[in-house]
Amino acid sequence: MTDALALTRALTAVDTVGHAETAALEVVAPLLREAGFRLEVFEHEPGRGTLVAEWETGHDVPPLCLSGHVDTVPLGGAPWQRDPFAGETDGDRVYGRGVSDMKAGVAAIVTAAVAVARSRPRRSGLRLVLTAAEETGSQGARFVADRLGPSGPLVITEPTANVAFHGHKGALWLEAHASGVTAHGSMPHLGDNAVVKLAAAVTRLAEYRFGVEPHPVMGPPTLNVGTFAGGLNTNSVPDRAVATVDVRTVAGQDHAALLAELASVAGVEVRPLIDLPPVWTDPGDEWAASAAEIVRDVTGAGGEVATATYFTDASVLTPALGGVPTLICGPGQPEQAHVTDEWCSITRLAESVEILKRICAAWCGI
Ligand SMILES: [Zn+2]
Repeated sequence: MTDALALTRALTAVDTVGHAETAALEVVAPLLREAGFRLEVFEHEPGRGTLVAEWETGHDVPPLCLSGHVDTVPLGGAPWQRDPFAGETDGDRVYGRGVSDMKAGVAAIVTAAVAVARSRPRRSGLRLVLTAAEETGSQGARFVADRLGPSGPLVITEPTANVAFHGHKGALWLEAHASGVTAHGSMPHLGDNAVVKLAAAVTRLAEYRFGVEPHPVMGPPTLNVGTFAGGLNTNSVPDRAVATVDVRTVAGQDHAALLAELASVAGVEVRPLIDLPPVWTDPGDEWAASAAEIVRDVTGAGGEVATATYFTDASVLTPALGGVPTLICGPGQPEQAHVTDEWCSITRLAESVEILKRICAAWCGI
């Protein structure tokens, strides 16, 4: 019997702050191999692997897909009271960088998947996608997306404190560039001021109205001008300026069309930095409704339909798998993601294993 807590601690002991995901995957690989999974690791950079593990995927019914990322964000500037890589436990909590976001979620996937494979389901198989580099824009998921082929529904165990989220907003991060002509600061009429040009452009963007109704669950799309830089010295006309803009989209918005429109509104060069579409599964979807019912049954929580505020690999994986129904539901505490002295509830971890086992059993036919 695989122990999800021991696995969480073993995963936490591997520092995956933007590197070494392959080393973390080696923690879970023997367990999966022993349970009969076929494993392939794809490295988008040396040492930065994404694992695709498949068990009995040859059925007519496509495999259920479970996914999580093994990279984490840095520790931050403040000192930690707990060793970030020891997986210390205290009462109901296990501590460490990435326990909530989302090594406990990965441990729950592997624990449940091994148990399900051993029960030899008859209706369909399982596919696990354990990714690198989610935190920096889903580079790992992107690297394997074309190799996956269609699957059944997708569950991503990002931190939700075991609430079933029906999707999340999209993220379209942009870099806006203005160029001009430099001249002496005492003769600005001889130059063309890039800072002034870009200031007008980002003001137009900040005032932009999306012209879409707020999504009933996600709310309205938003736009924030996050950074602005330009000019080298006070007594010159600046000839370069750059700003970055964070656009969060809702289900139904097309990023390519929006990008073209925002570029036209800005009137300067606009390039995408991150382009991750929104994810939304209708609560009326038959699988999503039954999976959400399993979640409520295990946790005893209420049934309100919610979405995540953050983006996930689902932006890449859901379309790559064929636009499959997708739920985000994992044991981590959402508010513990990226914080100092990050922790995850051990009770939630056990619940998550139970939730995943039951969702797999229902789809795979145990
Ligand atoms: Zn995450």
